[in-house]
Amino acid sequence: MKLCMIGTGYVGLVSGVCFADLGNEVICVDKNKDKIDSLKRGEIPIYEPGLSELVIKNNRSKKLSFSTDLEKSVKNSDIIFICVGTPTKKGGSSADLSQLYKVSKELSSLINKFKIIVTKSTVPVTTGDEIEKILSKKNNKKKFSVVSNPEFLREGEAIRDFIYPDRIVIGTNDNKAGKILKNLYNPLISKGASYLQTSRRSAELIKYASNAFLATKITFINEIANLCEKTAINVEDIAIGMGLDKRIGSRFLRAGPAYGGSCFPKDTRAIISTADKFNTNLSVIKSVIKSNENRSKILLDRVYKILNRKIKNKKITFLGVTFKANTDDMRDSSTLKMIPWLSKKGAIIKYFDPTGHKKEFFKLKNVINKKTIKEAVQGSDLVIIHTEWNDFKSINFKNYVKGKKFIIFDMRKIYSSTKIKEQGFKYYTIGN
Ligand code: NAD
Repeated sequence: MKLCMIGTGYVGLVSGVCFADLGNEVICVDKNKDKIDSLKRGEIPIYEPGLSELVIKNNRSKKLSFSTDLEKSVKNSDIIFICVGTPTKKGGSSADLSQLYKVSKELSSLINKFKIIVTKSTVPVTTGDEIEKILSKKNNKKKFSVVSNPEFLREGEAIRDFIYPDRIVIGTNDNKAGKILKNLYNPLISKGASYLQTSRRSAELIKYASNAFLATKITFINEIANLCEKTAINVEDIAIGMGLDKRIGSRFLRAGPAYGGSCFPKDTRAIISTADKFNTNLSVIKSVIKSNENRSKILLDRVYKILNRKIKNKKITFLGVTFKANTDDMRDSSTLKMIPWLSKKGAIIKYFDPTGHKKEFFKLKNVINKKTIKEAVQGSDLVIIHTEWNDFKSINFKNYVKGKKFIIFDMRKIYSSTKIKEQGFKYYTIGN
């Protein structure tokens, strides 16, 4: 099939490349010329394991191409996937749909033959109805079908998640469009992915409800970890004991920093805003948001106590600053709260991230990026493990000590406390 992905970010690029690898002819469009130029040169603008190889392979076989020319790309394609960002509105909590509506307006004058317009971006309930209205304004009736196909991939695992998804959700009452999309996804369905066709509004809500539920699981175990810390209980035992119950499941029960990233924070806020619009009180999700906002404060309070209430001039190192491992995405990472707070209190911060330095910290006083773990860690008073990259799991801290041993605060519980303590380091973790 001929596909056009509008928006070549984490979702548009990964799904475009994977669709091409499944044998489709895919053109990825973006308004950002620099991004498209670098992709044409084979340079990948984001960090995502395995993505570069797939882009190069499919580009060479001419299944995948890149363009800034929306008109030509849309006119040549049968299925158009909208994959633009839907961030939180500035100064509000609802989803900012301006990029999506702008694209819809542009599309309305480019429909030259029957096209399926698929929303892959995460959008509030009834957004599909709005897109349909915008497209209908240009006498396009019957020449298009607007479908919701929410994307569930996770950064860092995006290719695997796309190729082996748990489920594919197609939201449409149009059986012709539904059949074409089922056919497009058939290679994944035949490998075991569940396929669910629902109404468009249901598909839109499935995405938000899923993200809100996952955010709830993380927040729940983080709060249980707080109780474990007061009662000398290892929160991992609790998570295992809970997770063995098939009704609960073991995933997303790992206590750690506040959840962040490009999805959970904005999607929990947006679903509340949608519910408000429909006079519905989603009190559980509201309290999840509140608890998560408080999470970084709780962890900073622990840092404060670990350092005997003296932050000024303390040398603090962060290993990993993105919102989780295996991604370069800084959106809503909890370090964006923790590092500025510590810097303001007079700490001297070094950080190392496998995806390099971060522009978000350029302007902060006494915050510097180090190119190696060794440079980052040596001479510190406190080393904070913020994300669980494999690079950090095998560190032999003894090799990095010059003089006084530093304290380790492992926010991801990646080390054995016994082993670290045997080496003479003071070791703190989440939920004991
Ligand atoms: P992103 O910011 O990485 O990419 C969006 C891209 O769209 C940008 O490159 C931007 O330049 C481009 N764009 C904006 N307006 C455009 C226009 N008019 N024409 C062409 N290109 C345009 O965003 P993302 O992380 O890929 O997320 C996209 C959507 O997918 C969001 O709704 C998000 O919630 C959802 N989603 C994201 C993830 C994830 O892990 N990142 C997972 C599932 C769903």
